[in-house]
Formats: sequence, C-alpha cells, structure tokens
Amino acid sequence: MSTGGICTVPECGEIVAEAFVCSTCTHRLSVALGDVADLAEELQTDLTRQGRRGGRDGGRDAEAPLPFDVGASIVADALLSTLTSWALIVAGDLLGTPPATGAAGLASWLGARVERIRHRPDGGVCVDEVCAAIEAARDQVHGPARGPNSLLLGVCPECGQALYGRERVRQARCRRDGCDGVVDAAEWRYDALQQLAEEVLPAVDAARAASVFLGVDISAARVRQWRRRGRLAPVDPDASRPLYRVAEVCRLLDVDTRQTAS
Ligand SMILES: [Zn+2]
Ligand SMILES: [Zn+2]
Repeated sequence: MSTGGICTVPECGEIVAEAFVCSTCTHRLSVALGDVADLAEELQTDLTRQGRRGGRDGGRDAEAPLPFDVGASIVADALLSTLTSWALIVAGDLLGTPPATGAAGLASWLGARVERIRHRPDGGVCVDEVCAAIEAARDQVHGPARGPNSLLLGVCPECGQALYGRERVRQARCRRDGCDGVVDAAEWRYDALQQLAEEVLPAVDAARAASVFLGVDISAARVRQWRRRGRLAPVDPDASRPLYRVAEVCRLLDVDTRQTAS
C-alpha cells in the first residue's frame, strides 16, 4: 500500500502519508456526502415542481406547473449514477446490487467509509467525481454558484458513469478503473440538445436547462433581453407567459460564448 506521496485528487498536490487522499480532501468528501440527503430532497422538489412558486425564485409568476424540470432531472440522474458506481466499487462488487438505495442512502453508506476510500489507489478519482456530482446538484438547487468542476460532459457509453470536467473538451475518457469508454462530449451534447429541442419552457427554466448543458450561467433576464432585441422569439408571441424553445436558447448562448472566447 501507499507509504506516502502526493494526494491523488486532481490539482490538490498536498503531501500525504500512508494514504492516497489528504485529510483536507477527505474532509471535503465527508462534508459533500453529508449534504446529499437535503440536496436529493430539493432536487425531487424541483422535479415535481412543488413549492417553487413564491419560493426561492421570489417573484416567479404563477403559471401552470411544468411536467418536470429538465435541469433537475439530468443532475439528479447523474448524481445517483455517480454514487451508485462508487458504492459498487468501494463495496468491491461491481456487478452486485448497490449496498443502499437512493442518493441519500448511498451517500450515507459512502460517508461511513471515507477512511476506506482514502486508502484506495483510486481514492482521488472518487473524491473528484463524487464532489463534482454533488457540486452540480448544489448549483442546481441553490442557483448559479457554478464551480469549476460542474460541467456535465456526458455519460460513459460503456458503464453509464456521468463524467464532469472543468472545461469543454471534445472527448473525455471514462476514469473508472477497467473501463475504456470514451464520451464524445460534442456528440453527447448534440444528442441531448436534440432531445431538448422539443422542450418549450418559460424563460427561467429555459435558462436553467441551457446552463446545465453548456456549463455557462445564463439568467432569465438575458433570455428576455434576447427577445427584446429580436434575437429570440417565444413560441406563442401572444401568450401572457412567453415560452421558449430550449434548443434555441442554447444556440444563442453558444454563439455568444464563442464570440466572447475569441
Ligand atoms: Zn488532497
Ligand atoms: Zn465507463
């Protein structure tokens, strides 16, 4: 086993003795896992749209509830899949049944095993992936305080692991041990956007869905500004609450982001 070296969490660099993950990163993992029960509940609330009106969106207009929240659905699925994969790995039973059910149950199971995790050679990958998935859930629930890890690049075609990155890349290799899956991030995003193309949402939700996909924060105000400037048309211009095609919002956001970057 390890007799000391550098913490294996990407970009940490802390010296660590007799483990693969330093105490700071281990603590970060514990704290993040401890948040999952609340976050999972909040994501569920987002999904079912209960308590949204007059809630944290403040003056959100009264409108017919949407069938589901696109962003919350993606983030919740990715969180559950990340926690499930790592619970199976840590349990040493890749093909078995997960040792607990639900995001909260899995997080609590993993939380009781952080010492075991930090002594695994892949402990740094575990901390990185699990914290990124929880961070994305936190962003979804608490609004845009988007961290550097939370861009969802896609889902591994081989093992179903959600892959996060700090920046957009064309391809991302699955970091799961023994998996050689490669996510074509551009293709994944394209497919996801195709699925979203039919989604028609109010400005607040269209902005949120676009943020999740492109990893760039965008406010509902910007969506409305695009409308005023004639760049974006609501589906029914006469509706009291305008609805926008998510794909169209993503396209405009993408164009603007590229222009800013160049
Ligand atoms: Zn560390
Ligand atoms: Zn994989």
